[in-house]
Amino acid sequence: MPPFSCRGSRPPNFASDGGPVVKATPAKKSVIAEAQQIRCAVEMIELGARLQLLQEETSLSRERLLKLFKEVTGKSPSKGMLPYSTDWFMTWQPNIHSSLFLGIYQFLEKNAPLPRLERLIKSYRLYLEQIAVSGEEAVLSITRAWFLIRFLDAGMLQFKPCTACGGHFVIHAQDLYDEFVCGICRPPSRAGKTRKTSLAQASLEI
Ligand SMILES: [Zn+2]
Repeated sequence: MPPFSCRGSRPPNFASDGGPVVKATPAKKSVIAEAQQIRCAVEMIELGARLQLLQEETSLSRERLLKLFKEVTGKSPSKGMLPYSTDWFMTWQPNIHSSLFLGIYQFLEKNAPLPRLERLIKSYRLYLEQIAVSGEEAVLSITRAWFLIRFLDAGMLQFKPCTACGGHFVIHAQDLYDEFVCGICRPPSRAGKTRKTSLAQASLEI
């Protein structure tokens, strides 16, 4: 799956051609480009990103990233598994939060010429603002948001309009709906909602 880029002012179009990332050789690496990468890495760490994301998204060394991580958070990064599953995005509350985030991300994609990693950071900040305005707790972590975009680019998930309200929602790519109805228009039973909410909150720890 294609990674994001924080290596230049223009985003490479990974989604259409799936081409490999060409890493800058040390001799060609400019101070400004490196400073941009450090800035992006610090922002991602502040937003709670896992170290593995930073290793994929920047050409900074693992030692450098570890130092940055400890400096920003004051602790060592988690060594647990990354959340690779697409199923989490299908549960009730995570699906609504993920869909909100993806709507913001795609709006910026169309209207703001940002490199992909910066777009991810900006979209995630806007998502947090929206959630704060509605008085809710954020359910989608930056790591999950990053996976969401990757799953979408890889064709594992898609963003489809609800036939009842017209809003777009994240669904599995293999799910065939003639008349897709979203989780807001057709919420689950109360018991299911409570269980899914606690699951969603637990996932923020990841
Ligand atoms: Zn709906």
